[in-house]
Amino acid sequence: MEQEVISKNFIEQIIEKDIEEGVYPKIVTRFPPEPNGYLHIGHAKSILLNYGLAQKYNGTFHLRFDDTNPMKEKAEYVDSMIRDIEWLGVDAKEHLYFASDYFDQMYEAAVKLIKKGKAYVCDLSPEEIREYRGTLKEPGKDSPYRNRTVEENLQLFEDMKNGKVEDGKKVLRAKIDMASGNINMRDPILYRVARVEHHNTKDKWCIYPMYDFAHPIEDAIEGVSHSICTLEFEDHRPLYEWVVNELEYEHPPKQIEFAKLYLDHVITGKRYIKKLVDEKIVDGWDDPRLVSLSGLRRRGVTKDAIKMFMELVGVSKSHSTVDYAMFEYCIREDLKLKRPRMMAVLDPIKVVITNYPEGEVEYLEVENNQENEEMGKRTVPFCRELYIEREDFMEEPPKKYYRFFPGNEVRLKNAYFLKCNDYIKDENGVVTEIHCTYDKETKSGSGFTGRKVKGTIHWVAAPFAIKAEVRLYENLVDENAEQSNEDGSYNLNPNSLTVLKNCYVEPNLKDAKPLDSFQFLRHGYFCVDEKDSTPEHLVFNRIVSMKSSYKK
Ligand code: ATP
Ligand code: MG
Repeated sequence: MEQEVISKNFIEQIIEKDIEEGVYPKIVTRFPPEPNGYLHIGHAKSILLNYGLAQKYNGTFHLRFDDTNPMKEKAEYVDSMIRDIEWLGVDAKEHLYFASDYFDQMYEAAVKLIKKGKAYVCDLSPEEIREYRGTLKEPGKDSPYRNRTVEENLQLFEDMKNGKVEDGKKVLRAKIDMASGNINMRDPILYRVARVEHHNTKDKWCIYPMYDFAHPIEDAIEGVSHSICTLEFEDHRPLYEWVVNELEYEHPPKQIEFAKLYLDHVITGKRYIKKLVDEKIVDGWDDPRLVSLSGLRRRGVTKDAIKMFMELVGVSKSHSTVDYAMFEYCIREDLKLKRPRMMAVLDPIKVVITNYPEGEVEYLEVENNQENEEMGKRTVPFCRELYIEREDFMEEPPKKYYRFFPGNEVRLKNAYFLKCNDYIKDENGVVTEIHCTYDKETKSGSGFTGRKVKGTIHWVAAPFAIKAEVRLYENLVDENAEQSNEDGSYNLNPNSLTVLKNCYVEPNLKDAKPLDSFQFLRHGYFCVDEKDSTPEHLVFNRIVSMKSSYKK
């Protein structure tokens, strides 16, 4: 709590000032996604920020679907967004709204502006409107329809609503200032005619409000106090303020902008993710390589890791790209003390302990998490035949290689010292079996101090181990190329997915359920895939490896 005072972000400062001055009866924030895709990690930032502020200031948080553009929206997206938001621990259903429920009020608001002489119906074509708008250097020109009378405008706007106007033939525009230095203020379009069925209002409307008009009205109707959005809307703020002031709301909401979250080497942006999904480059919106919230969940990333990450990143006014390694650091930190540490061999090679009696099995006691005693203990079987990682043996080791090579002794994690004596190769020269002897005296936990060995490796007991599939991931975007090309396309990493079909995991994992996650010693954190894993064929996704390149 002490820390909080120092790290108070600029949005909190604005809100606290408003509370002090009694500007709003209550603090209300919202998250207003357009249901045109799945949510991603950037949205999580906005959700947690808005929800967190509402909680902190005893206010309310609204989830509002900004479904005023019927062209790209689908009910599937609404459902997925609710699921993802609730997964983040936010009660999404208590204050759940749809912008399309306000179409009547938006229409009334437009009529009000017409009556005030602040809006007019314009017959210019889209091209002409663009031409008349001017440029950053040159002022725009007034539309020839700008001085229509209030009566004429009311009639024409009603005609638009009643389907008497063809798509694209007329629009309703705000009457502000064609010479404004801010192009958004040059008589922006408020309503357009579009005969498109809406997923909520079906064919009730053939006119739809533009975002810049609809959004402030939605906020005002809901009593939103602080309308927090991202920096690309900064230039739209004067228009936002114009709308809420001209419509004379009692407590006009306040727009505040912050910088979007960008992560390097991953793809955010719904339209880019959608392209990968549509082109089947990824396995749907929940492909574990995506930073969509459903992809992260399937991968095994927890909401707590996402929250930790957002706190670490903070809220700012200037754009920056965050190192992906920082996110991975949070994922590891979160799982470190919470997940059992198990043994799994991803690229197996057989070890035969030639002095261990055939047919004998002993059960060794193992701590579930060496850093968290509370997680208790389990037993793992040990016997004459084991699997170890292929890379833990070398015929001719380089200097400082402390694992198995002929003549070397190595510690088997939780078990005994094993000395490598011999190995067998197949006709292609591939090593297929390693022969070792164990020393009974060196049992783990026995207090043996007779001699030391430098290498420790993990293993599983061959007859008991469960065969499993393991999927390893790298970032979708090639780290060695530019983040994106001039045409906006990405350079994809051809190695973003590696499927290992011949892995062995310790038998304690036999009852692992979808989305359960574990540390596999030396390999990282893994999660049971919720789509493809079955009790007969376990599939594990690597959440994150053990290695960290993040510098705190
Ligand atoms: P995108 O196309 O990048 O997925 P968007 O801005 O079009 O995002 P919306 O559904 O319109 O998506 O946005 C919902 C809210 O989420 C907006 O307030 C938007 O500013 C916010 N948002 C979107 N992307 C990010 C991000 N990367 N970081 C923080 N907030 C974001
Ligand atoms: Mg958008």
